[in-house]
Amino acid sequence: MRDNIHLLTIEEIAKEIEKCEKCPLYQTRTKVVPGEGNSHSKVIFIGEAPGEEEDFKGKPFIGRAGRLFSKILQSVDIKREDIFITNMLKCRPPGNRNPSKSEIETCLPFLESQIALINPKIIVTLGNIPTQFFLETTKGITKLRGNWFDWLGEIKIFPMFHPSYLCRNESTSPGSPKARTWQDIQTLKEAMEDL
Ligand code: URA
Repeated sequence: MRDNIHLLTIEEIAKEIEKCEKCPLYQTRTKVVPGEGNSHSKVIFIGEAPGEEEDFKGKPFIGRAGRLFSKILQSVDIKREDIFITNMLKCRPPGNRNPSKSEIETCLPFLESQIALINPKIIVTLGNIPTQFFLETTKGITKLRGNWFDWLGEIKIFPMFHPSYLCRNESTSPGSPKARTWQDIQTLKEAMEDL
């Protein structure tokens, strides 16, 4: 099954996700949120799981956190349509609770297929859940963000704060999560220019 999915296009992977009933989240979802953007992008952004608005519309990062995420990208002239944006989970956990380990593992083949197909140079992990998963660590995002990590040889992981966390931490004073994020996105933009 997994090998079959690897041969699919990004649209076909999305169709597989639409049909998925492998974990109980299919019972409570309105729409699946496979991800969107440029399937030839050298950069993939990976969040946690869809929230309420994403579940309603079937698109990633379009709610309050998503609007902030778009602003962060715009600040360095990265266009949403030029990158690929997705989540660890393709369905919303009820009440926006954290994804469980088993939900992440069950959903993982879809993300693996997307990564295999897109073949990015950089994966930006947003927040603790994707960062700790990819880096196989229990260290927190505050320690990890803004640093580069090797993953499977050729791919770099660049953790950043999750935009939802930034919505809850409004301060922009030096050293604040928002101030650090403005630094991180510039670091990322420079790296993207060198790809
Ligand atoms: N938070 C996420 O992690 N992903 C989304 O798509 C929306 C909010």
